[in-house]
Amino acid sequence: MQDFFALPRHELEGLCERLELPLIHAKTLFRAVYKEGLKALSAPPSLPQRLRQTLEDGYACNEASIAKESCSRYDGTVKFLIRLSDGSLVESVLMPEKKRITLCISSQVGCAQACTFCYTGRMGLKRQMSAGEIVAQVWLASQWIAQHPEWLAERDFPSFTKLSNIVFMGMGEPLDNVQEVSRALHILSDPWGLNLALRKISVSTAGHLEGMAVLLKEFPDLSLALSLHATTERERSQLMPINRRWPIGEVLSFLRAHYETRAKDRSLLIQYTVIRGVNDGERHARELIELLVGLPVKVNLIPLNEVEPSRFQGPEPGSLEAFRDRLHEAGLRVMVRYSKGQDIEAACGQLVIKNTPSSDRADRALPS
Ligand code: SF4
Repeated sequence: MQDFFALPRHELEGLCERLELPLIHAKTLFRAVYKEGLKALSAPPSLPQRLRQTLEDGYACNEASIAKESCSRYDGTVKFLIRLSDGSLVESVLMPEKKRITLCISSQVGCAQACTFCYTGRMGLKRQMSAGEIVAQVWLASQWIAQHPEWLAERDFPSFTKLSNIVFMGMGEPLDNVQEVSRALHILSDPWGLNLALRKISVSTAGHLEGMAVLLKEFPDLSLALSLHATTERERSQLMPINRRWPIGEVLSFLRAHYETRAKDRSLLIQYTVIRGVNDGERHARELIELLVGLPVKVNLIPLNEVEPSRFQGPEPGSLEAFRDRLHEAGLRVMVRYSKGQDIEAACGQLVIKNTPSSDRADRALPS
């Protein structure tokens, strides 16, 4: 059986063509599955019998399901534990805000990058997620929102009834799985399906230069977030081994060249997790400013979430403010972002499947 969630609409149109049927049926099917939430592919009454039979014989939506959901008492954030069809578990996180509803999704089961402060990295890479599994997370969250109107009513956010933004910031390095992520982007942004504009989808990377080149060639206006976390090659290589393969200087040069060709309103999001005594000093602020010269950036400073006692700690409030002010005075757009869903371990850096034996040894979690 082929996974319907992994099929871009143009491939469905190819199927209609082979069956000598009008292409409109592909649109009808996309709308039924993604907008109306139907998983029975042959259900739409307007589909011709020949197409129904072909779908029944060869296609099905993958069986990813919500194994567990946890809702934050403080900010309404919902963490989903998603069981994939082979039993693997990943997490996605739904975050309601005044002006948007964002879903943070995973792209790999575990991660190969082994950043020293990250729980997910300590899991190692279990396997890649398919495009269909990536899309299924979004489909499941969309259905969950539709079935829980009280969730939004309680938050007093009457103007939003569906997902508006997607961030690839859950488990995994998305650009280590770039072909499947790219396929998923085509499906998620299809106007007959979930219709999420590419500008509303953000892919976060620890600095995977090869994957960036592939993805930005195909989706030049995609929003990109770069997890920086350190300001020198040596310090970044210690925190993030990926820096040994693709030094941050090379990554930023590539991005400078890319943004020179884009419209003025496109910008790169820099994620900088502030860790006490590691990257929160005056020197680090100065070096960060120098690193970002010539790039259209927004900087998010994320105080490290302390999940449990560890050698890494969140910053003192005073040093965080001083760091932010220093960047601000240099003319950078900077915000301090406090993670949501901390009481349900859904905040930045807390995504990990707890029954993974090696995760017990993790110092800190910070999926990129
Ligand atoms: S921070 Fe991101 S890239 Fe690094 S190990 Fe964690 S999930 Fe992987």
